Amino acid sequence: SREWHLLSRPVGWPAPENFALVEAPLPEPGEGQVLVRNEYLSVDPYMRGRMSAAKSYVAPYELNRPMQGGAVGEVVASRAVGISVGDHVLHFGGWREYAAVDARHAVTVDPEAAPLSTYLGVLGMTGLTAYAGLLRTASFKEGDIVFVSGAAGAVGSQVGQLAKLKGASRVIGSAGSDEKVKLLLEEYGFDAAFNYKEGPVSEQLRAAAPDGIDVYFDNVGGDHLEAAIGSLNRGGRIAICGMISVYNNTEPAPGPRNLARLIQTRGRIEGFLVGDHYDLQPQFVREVGPWVRSGELKYRETVVEGVEHTLDAFLGVLRGENTGKMIVKL
Ligand code: NDP
Repeated sequence: SREWHLLSRPVGWPAPENFALVEAPLPEPGEGQVLVRNEYLSVDPYMRGRMSAAKSYVAPYELNRPMQGGAVGEVVASRAVGISVGDHVLHFGGWREYAAVDARHAVTVDPEAAPLSTYLGVLGMTGLTAYAGLLRTASFKEGDIVFVSGAAGAVGSQVGQLAKLKGASRVIGSAGSDEKVKLLLEEYGFDAAFNYKEGPVSEQLRAAAPDGIDVYFDNVGGDHLEAAIGSLNRGGRIAICGMISVYNNTEPAPGPRNLARLIQTRGRIEGFLVGDHYDLQPQFVREVGPWVRSGELKYRETVVEGVEHTLDAFLGVLRGENTGKMIVKL
C-alpha cells in the first residue's frame, strides 16, 4: 500500500523533494479499528500549514510518517462494532491507499444518497465552512451585498450561491481566470465577478459594487482584504476564512492600510475555524442537501486520478488549477 510522507519542511513553495510516495505493508487494523481502501482523497489549502513546524490549530505533519487528510473509502476489514465490511466511511487517513482508522473517528456515509466525493466537498468540510462562515461568523442577513474571494473554489463557490439562495441583494465574486469569472456569472448566478489578476482589486471591486458591500467572505487575504475594507458599508462584517495568498510567504505580509475605516463603518472582522461549528452539520445537511440534489446549488469538482498524483493535486490547489473542490480519485 502506497502512502505519502513528508521528508522535510518546505520553505516557501513546497517542492517535490520535500515529499516521497512510500511503499508500506498493508496496515493491520487493531481492536476498535477498521481497514479502509480509500477511493477519494481530499487535498486542501490548510495542509500547507501542517507542513510547517509552527504550532497551529492542527499539529504539524510528522516527518517520515504518513501524511493525513480527509478521505472516503470502503471498509475491507473490521474489528469495530457498528461498522461492517462493505460500508463506506469518511475519515482522516488520507494521502494513502489503505488506512487503519479508529471507528470512533470514522463517519459512515451513504453512497446511494450522494456521490462519495461530495462528502469531502459540497456536502462535507468545505460546504460546512461556507455555511458556518457566511451564516454564523458573517451574520449574513437577507438583503446583504456579499463579496467573496476565491469564488470559483470549493468554499467560495458555495458561499456565493448560498448567499443568493438566502436572499442577498447582490453577490460579487473574484477569481483568477476569465474562464472562472464566466462560470461565476453564467452558472453560479453571481451578479458581478472579476479577474483579480487583471487590475487592482480595489478598483475592480468598486466598479462591481457601486453601493459598497455588507459582507466580505475572505479566502485570500492581502490586497483583497484591504479592498473589501475600503468598500465596506456601515455595520459591515468580514469573515476571515483563509488567506491563501500568504500561505507560501517566507516573510509576514503587510497588513491592510485602511483599518481605520472600521471605526466609521462600525465594521467587524472575525476569523473562524470550521472545526468549531460542527453543531451546525445536521442543519447544514438538511438545508443544503436538497439544494444540491435539485441542482439549485451547483458544484464542480476537479478530479485528479491516482495516488501518485496527490502531491500534484495539492500543489494545483495553491496554483489555482482547480475549479470547485480538488479531489484525488484512486
Ligand atoms: P479552493 O477550492 O478555493 O482552492 C484554492 C483557490 O485559491 C485556488 O483555486 C485559486 O483560485 C485561489 N488562489 C490561490 N492563490 C491565490 C492568490 N495568491 N490570490 C488569490 N487567490 C488565490 O480551496 P478551498 O475552497 O478548500 O479553501 C478556500 C479558502 O478557505 C482557503 O484559504 C482555505 O485555507 C480556507 N479554509 C478555511 C477553513 C476554516 O475552517 N477557516 C476550512 C476550509 C478552508 P484562483 O484561480 O481564483 O486564483
